[in-house]
Amino acid sequence: MFIVDTSDTYYLDKIYEDMDKLCSKYSDILSMKVIGKSVEGRDIVALKISGEKDEKNYKSKPSVLFTGGIHAREDFSVMLCMKMIDYYCRYYSEGKDFESYDVKKIIDAVDLFFVPVANPDGLNIVHHGIEASSNYEKLKTMQIWGEDHTYWKANANGVDLNKNFDDGNWEIRTCVPGTEIPCSDRFKGFKANSEPETMALINFCNENHFSLMVTYHCSGNCTFWADSGTHGMFNGLDEKIMDELNKKYIYRKTKVSIDPKIYGCGFENWFRARMKRPAFCIELSPFVEGGKQHPDNMFDKLVWEHAKSTGLFFAEKAAEIDDEIFGDAEKYAALTK
Ligand SMILES: [Zn+2]
Repeated sequence: MFIVDTSDTYYLDKIYEDMDKLCSKYSDILSMKVIGKSVEGRDIVALKISGEKDEKNYKSKPSVLFTGGIHAREDFSVMLCMKMIDYYCRYYSEGKDFESYDVKKIIDAVDLFFVPVANPDGLNIVHHGIEASSNYEKLKTMQIWGEDHTYWKANANGVDLNKNFDDGNWEIRTCVPGTEIPCSDRFKGFKANSEPETMALINFCNENHFSLMVTYHCSGNCTFWADSGTHGMFNGLDEKIMDELNKKYIYRKTKVSIDPKIYGCGFENWFRARMKRPAFCIELSPFVEGGKQHPDNMFDKLVWEHAKSTGLFFAEKAAEIDDEIFGDAEKYAALTK
């Protein structure tokens, strides 16, 4: 029996409940930690899948971070993270391959971290309207871009979290006209790193030194895998990983993002610039104009069928990265000079 049910809308209270259920069912390999609180005081939870401890090896294992739900309305990304946790733990405990990946081998070699709901207040607004927010008095005056609250993309301060990270481009990062003040999407905040959800992810990364990071969004079935400010640092490694992904999966490889005024201050851009390691943004599901989302009951068909093993793909890459590049301190120092 699987715990995570993605046949229709996956509500926040059910998500938190499932996190508890998963951790007790798979207590030998799965654990969770609250890494911060949202504007409205909700827990921002990280889950860690960790296999056999390697007693002989004092060095910590390679690790990979997966993030979902930075943008409130993109709840397919939340469903994907939760369902991957459920499936990977199950296949690990049964010793079975998943989509030709040796789950046991991968999870014993690499620690997988997930922050499935990076913006819980935003998700609550998408599901229940701004009236359901404890910040309602503030939110009711804000502009909602799109037809209604289901288009909400920001956190409960009306800040687009994926434009709020201090990657060195915050001053020049532009807002689309009309989004220079708090609203439902595209407002970068009054200063960099201003939001508690932003800081929760930053602190978590600083504590853990992930080998690479993957952030799931919607829509477009494509990947944003490099930006001009950091691409040179990785000596082709980011592109090599992307080309491999391209061969196995449907996600179209886009061009390197060129203009920091337009790409700056996303979590993936921050991760590359500050952690000096590759980060990949995966846009799930077929492209829809204007930020409209597919119906929740289409998740299995539009997303899961295509993306279900991407977590294992990137976990394998995390191990290779540590061996190839970051295992060699001198080589790494030369790359990031
Ligand atoms: Zn997004």
